[in-house]
Parts: sequence; C-alpha cells; structure tokens
Amino acid sequence: MTKLVYAFHEGQKDMKELLGGKGANLAEMTRIGLPVPEGFTISTKACSDYYDHDGQISEALTDQVMTALKELESKTGKTLGGSDQPLLVSVRSGSVFSMPGMMDTVLNLGMNDETVDVVAGLTDNARFAYDSYRRFIQMFSDVVLGVESFFFEQELSKFRREKGYESDPELSAADWKEVIEAYKKIVKRHTKTPFPQDPKEQLFLSIKAVFDSWNNQRAVIYRNLNDIPHHLGTAVNIQSMVFGNMGDDSGTGVAFTRDPSTGEAKLYGEYLINAQGEDVVAGIRTPQPIASLQRDLPDVFEQFIDTANRLEAHYGDMQDIEFTVENRKLFILQTRNGKRTAQAAIRIAVEMVHEGVIDKEQALLRVDPEQLDQLLHPRIDHSDDVEKLTKGLPASPGAATGQVVFDPDEAELLKGKGQNVILVRTETTPDDIHGIVAAEAVVTSRGGMTSHAAVVARGMGKACICGCGEMQIDMKAKSFRVGNTTVNHLDTITIDGGTGEVMLGEATMIPPQLSDEFETILQWADETRRLGIRTNADTPQDAQKAVEFGAEGIGLCRTEHMFMDPERVPVVREMILADDLDNRQKALDRLLPMQVEDFTGIFRAMGPRPVTIRLLDPPLHEFLPDKEELLVGITRMEIQDPGAPELAEKKKILKSVRLLDEFNPMLGHRGCRLGMVYPEIYEMQSRAIFKATAALSEEGVEVQPEVMIPLVGHVQELKAMRKVVEDAAIAVTEETGVSFTYTVGTMIEIPRAALTADAIAEEADFFSFGTNDLTQTTFGYSRDDAESKFLQHYLDHGVLEHNPFAVLDTEGVGKLVETGVTLGRKTKPGLKTGICGEHGGEKRSIAFCHETGLDYVSCSPYRVPLARLAAAQAKVNESSRTVNV
Ligand code: PEP
Ligand code: MG
Repeated sequence: MTKLVYAFHEGQKDMKELLGGKGANLAEMTRIGLPVPEGFTISTKACSDYYDHDGQISEALTDQVMTALKELESKTGKTLGGSDQPLLVSVRSGSVFSMPGMMDTVLNLGMNDETVDVVAGLTDNARFAYDSYRRFIQMFSDVVLGVESFFFEQELSKFRREKGYESDPELSAADWKEVIEAYKKIVKRHTKTPFPQDPKEQLFLSIKAVFDSWNNQRAVIYRNLNDIPHHLGTAVNIQSMVFGNMGDDSGTGVAFTRDPSTGEAKLYGEYLINAQGEDVVAGIRTPQPIASLQRDLPDVFEQFIDTANRLEAHYGDMQDIEFTVENRKLFILQTRNGKRTAQAAIRIAVEMVHEGVIDKEQALLRVDPEQLDQLLHPRIDHSDDVEKLTKGLPASPGAATGQVVFDPDEAELLKGKGQNVILVRTETTPDDIHGIVAAEAVVTSRGGMTSHAAVVARGMGKACICGCGEMQIDMKAKSFRVGNTTVNHLDTITIDGGTGEVMLGEATMIPPQLSDEFETILQWADETRRLGIRTNADTPQDAQKAVEFGAEGIGLCRTEHMFMDPERVPVVREMILADDLDNRQKALDRLLPMQVEDFTGIFRAMGPRPVTIRLLDPPLHEFLPDKEELLVGITRMEIQDPGAPELAEKKKILKSVRLLDEFNPMLGHRGCRLGMVYPEIYEMQSRAIFKATAALSEEGVEVQPEVMIPLVGHVQELKAMRKVVEDAAIAVTEETGVSFTYTVGTMIEIPRAALTADAIAEEADFFSFGTNDLTQTTFGYSRDDAESKFLQHYLDHGVLEHNPFAVLDTEGVGKLVETGVTLGRKTKPGLKTGICGEHGGEKRSIAFCHETGLDYVSCSPYRVPLARLAAAQAKVNESSRTVNV
C-alpha cells in the first residue's frame, strides 16, 4: 500500500517534494528536538491521489488519516471530539515551494457545542474557549463552506456597536456565546444546513478544502508568476493546537533571523500578545517589535533567541519562523528559508560566506538573478523639496511614483492601459494579488513588516510601505487623509519603500548606488563563470552604462536605430526614394560622416573590447511614413489646398511606400537581402566602421570591430556581403594609409542557416544566434501577432510552458542552436559563437547557452549583472543541480 500520511517524527528536511516545505521542516524540527506541537502530514502524493479520484478522498487515504489521528491522540492524551480532553488541531496547506498566504488554513478544528464547554472548564477560561470557537466557525465557514468572512465580520461589528465596545478584548465569555449563536444562524442561512458538529466530518471537509485551494485563482496566479509547476499539489499538515490567545502570558509572532529588507544580521520580527497566528499575518492588528517580548516575557525571549540561532545554523540560511507562546511555554510552528529582497539576499549570502556558514558557490546560488533588477533602478533624490506626507514601516525597499488607486481590480485595469498606479489599502489579503502584481508599489495603513502586503511585495521586489497609521482611508469617497491634506483617487504620489516615506506628487530620481556586497557577489560570479557577457547597445551612453555593469564587449549594435534619428530621417528617405544609383549614392555620402561619428562614439566607450556591429536589418518602409496617414494627408490636401507644393512630394513618397509595401515584412526584403540588392548601403556602413577604426587607431585607441551580416539563410549571401565589407576595408586602408584588423561574421536567425552552418562557417569568423528571429522562424510565429492574438491562450491552456520569446525553447529553437554550433565548429574548430536575442538576458536561457558551449551571451545593459550571475550559477550547477526552495 502506498504510504500517503507521515507522522512528524517520520520525516525530515529533504522530503520537501513529498511533505511540502512546511511538513518537511516540521518533521526536521521534531527530529532535532525543538518544541513542535505533535502532528502528521498528508503528503503531496495524497493530493495527486485526490485529484486522480476526481476530487474524492480515497478509502486508502481515509484509513491512513484515521491511523495517524489515533497515534496523535495517544501521544497527546487527547481525543478529537472527546468529552474529557478534547484534541484541537490546525489544518494547513504546505506545498513544495513556499506560496505564502495563497492557500487555506483552518485553526481550532475539533470545537463544537460540547467541546467548547470542556475546553472552558479545563482551561478555566471560558472567554478563551468561546473566542476560539467563534474563530473556528468563521474560518471553517469561509474556507470549507464558502460563506465569506465578511458576513461574520459585519455581524461582529454590529454586536460591538450595540454593546458599545471599541475592540474585541472587551467582549466577555457571555458575549462570545451570543456571537456564536448569531454566527451559526449565518451558516444555516447560507448553507441551508447547521454548522457541522462532528469533528471527524470537520477534519475531512477541511482536508478536502485545502486540496481544493491548490487550484484557487490566487494560487494559480502566484504559481504562474513564480514559475511553479501546477502538477505538484499541496501537502496538508494536521497539528495539535497551541494557543497564543490564552491571556497576557501568551502570544504569537513571526521572526526572521536576519532583516529580510536589508539583510542586516539581527533578529527581526514582530509579535502580538494574546492573539492567534492569523492576527499577525493578516495585518489586522499592528504588532509589537520582537524586542518587546524581552520586556514582557524575558525567559521565553531568551529561549526563542537560542532556537532561532539554532535553526539558522542548522539550515545554513536565514529563517522565517512562526512561534506561539502558550502560558509562557514556547512552541515553534514553522520555519522556512525566509523570502528577502535582492539587497538582503546579497548581503546575507556574502556575510554568510564571511561567517563560514556557506561557501562562495552556495552564495552564488542564494541570489536569484532576476532579483538584481530591483537594485539597478533609480532612487529618490531626497534633497529635492518634494512634499512629505507621512511615514510608515519600510516594508520593502524601492522607489515608485504612480496614481493612487484603492481597488485591486482598478489597479489591474489601469496598468493594462499603461498607467503606473500605487495600490493603497487598509491591509491586503491574498485576494488582492492581481492588484499588487499590477501596481508599482503598495501602501497599507495597517499591518506590520510581516503582514501579507509586506511579504508578498518583498517576494515580488516591489516597493511597499505598511502600517501608515496617520493615513485615514475613506474607501467610499476613494480618498485618504493625512492631517489636513486629502489625497484623491488618481492623484500622484511617490513612495520610498526603503525609508517608509510617502510623498505628494512626483519626485526626482537619481541613479542607484550599488553596495559593496553587490560588487563582491558579482566578482565571485566573474571568477566562476565560463560564458562571456556582452551587451546589446546602440549608443555610446548605453555602451558606457553596460561597461559599468561589467559588459565585456558589444554583442549587438543595431545600426537601424541610428537611421531613425529625426535629423537623419530626411537623408535616409532621400536614399530610399532615389531613382537611381547616383542619387542613392549622394544620399549615402551624406550619411557616411554621421555613421562615422556614431561608430567613433561607441568604439571610444568600449575601448579595446570587441564591438559587433550589425549592418542594416529592417525593411526600408520602416523609415517611411505610415501609408494610411499619408493617404489621409494627401486626400485632405487635395480638397483644401490642391496647389500646395508639398503635394507632389507626398505623392512621390506614397508611390514608394506602395512599392515597398509587403505582405509579410518579417519574412520580406530585410536583413542581408537589402545588402544583396543595394550593396552600396552595406558598403557605406562598412566604410564608416573602418574610417572610425582607422582614425582611432591613429590616435592610439585600440579597437576591435566585428562586422555582422543579418538574416543570412544561404552561404552565398554571406559570401557576397563579406566581399562588400572586405572591399570597403581595403578602400579605407588605401585612403587613410592605416591598416587594422577586423572580423566578419553572421547572425544565425533563420533555420536554414543553422542547418547549413557547416557551409556558412566557411565564410564566417563568428556566429551570433539571433534567437528573436530564430524563434519567429522556427515556430512560424510573427512575434507581434502571436503575443497579441494567441500566445496567452497557449500559455493558459498549457500548450506552451513559457513564452518562447522570453524563455528559449530549448527543444526546438535550442536544437537549431546546438546544430548551428556543432556544424559551424566542424568546419572551423573553435569558431566564436554567441547569442544576442533577448534570451541572452534570461537566466534559464543563459544556462542553456552555457551547456551548449557558446562563448558569450549578449543582453541589454541593465541585464548585464543578471547575466553575470546566471552564467556563474550555470557553471556551479554543472556538477550539482540544486533546487532553491
Ligand atoms: C534576433 O533576431 O534575435 C536579433 C537580435 O535581431 P532583431 O531582434 O534586431 O531582429
Ligand atoms: Mg533578428
């Protein structure tokens, strides 16, 4: 019989796949003797079993749960539903990868009309017993029976109002009894059946609800965002309850062993006296900093510090720990590797190496390359006199400016229209996830550093401020007030998640300052990686930025962007509209000095580093006005001013536009096909490259030009274009008397080029895989059409796992890359190969490039640090494939 259920003492930390992260860690903590309440884990295999049985709990699973329950009862000396010593349990989800707040939890299960009285008698605390029962009814009804919490909260507010109470602690046992009766009526009204009294029925319904919550909307969105496979399923942890709400010597809290925002090595956390766990996480009450536990319960604090240190040392990573104190006794309910900002991830990794906890290779794997992006963005210039509005808790660093919205749906809607918004809420719940995704930043008036908003925003690398107590939000009026200032819906604010400041209007931004730890980890990455890292840059400014970020060369300089400069467009059009070679040459002669200036600037910025310059690629009509607009203009002119001198000119342009019009420009007259028909264009560009090279060589500046021919599909194309380039080089040397070195290579971005790479390599000094076009031509998708029409459908229906324009399709496009490299190197061993499509800045694609033996990846300047780290991780993972959970 397949084992589906494991008691805590049967598991350990390496069993995450089976027991989920939470279950594996509860087992591990039990194993090393920490104070963990007894319990058992229903495995992820059981979840698959449940889905295999069309959402039914099988007999085998029922039997195993009953056996585990008996064992739990005998260990605790309590019985579920017992009239002597009733056992109360929590039922919590726990998947392989942590998905905080995404799935459901039920606490205090086992409570019913009878056990509540027994608990009241045993604890001599009737108020506590009834409070726990009403929490159970509300939570169970929401999670299991589908009766929204809102109805219960509304009832409770009404009750408080009628009795003149300000807060819940004022309610007596008798009050809670009344509330419970009202709650039961709500359940009856909505479900048409009484609240279930049988604890076993409660248990199995809850298990089912947790399994079902794996597929709730927010969990699915979270998995999509974080690339977590949908088939993994969740485990369910059943654990005997301990109570933080038994009075003032009880409490509950969450702590990180290091600061998850900055990485500073000091215990960082919050707790609430006389409360249950959900009160902290939900951000409903703003908790106390953990240091005040030292004042309130010094013995417990000391024991907690010991435990936290022990857990961090045991796991060798920063831990996020949930704990409860019941009548001065400490219990650990959960530990996991804590989610952290990029800044914290880097600092913790570097400091742990210095502390001797981990080695450099482990440190490199501790930082997600995607996260680095957070650190490369501008910060607020605080010397600017922007109006400071208020200050809250700096829950997740980063600066953001946007329009205020209060509703997550609206945040999503406006983001879709290209507007930047900041989501302002009293507190957030997991149902707000789509609004948090859409917003530039999140601000809440309540909740602490471990509230839902804070944890989720940090995980996403979004700026977040919590507990902005001065902020009075009026949801109805769609505004908030701070003192005398009112900020309305869609007003612009700026927030600094690093300081907690909220400012009115838009603030000036200044470039980021990178920490020493950032430099250190990237230096370790450079020592480790095999792949070279280049950048895609078309201007000296971008080139300069990329060098600052560590680029070792330019892998793609797209020259068409130089033609798009508004001052040059008229000359470019003259060149395109020329009736004969003579006139075209005249226009090209005017473009030549401009291009020389372009290349000189880029060469200077790059110094001795290699610079791959791609000759003109897009179809010529891209430099001409839009056909529809021209037609409208001409028609209007013909009616309003038929004698206008520009009319003839416009008509001439329209004629050319019509001539150049293509059915499918992506597959049309572009790339080297332009150079084949108009070699004078490529000749002018090559001359410009070499004139710049010669002039700089004269000055003593070392330059390494690499001329690249785009969209080659047949070796004859490359052969012909190579000749154009070589002739230009000879001509420039003759003119200037300066000799120089250069190479000529090709992009491999057409399947035929990859398949005939052995022949193409005869004419090429290097290959650069243009995986943007190679993806288009391999799939037969035009990117723009695919992304706007059907790609999302494919992703939603699992036809494709990733957008192949973002993550390289290793099975198809990748096979062509492999073939291209192998065939190319068969002809020319050691042929230099790189990638310059967008995939060159994506971590999984970079790993593929490493494995395929490419020499370098090239990506946009801001992704260079990411690429350096991802390349190092690929190298480290070569020997040990590690899953970062
Ligand atoms: C490519 O096709 O991958 C490439 C880099 O060229 P472009 O995106 O300019 O077509
Ligand atoms: Mg291309």
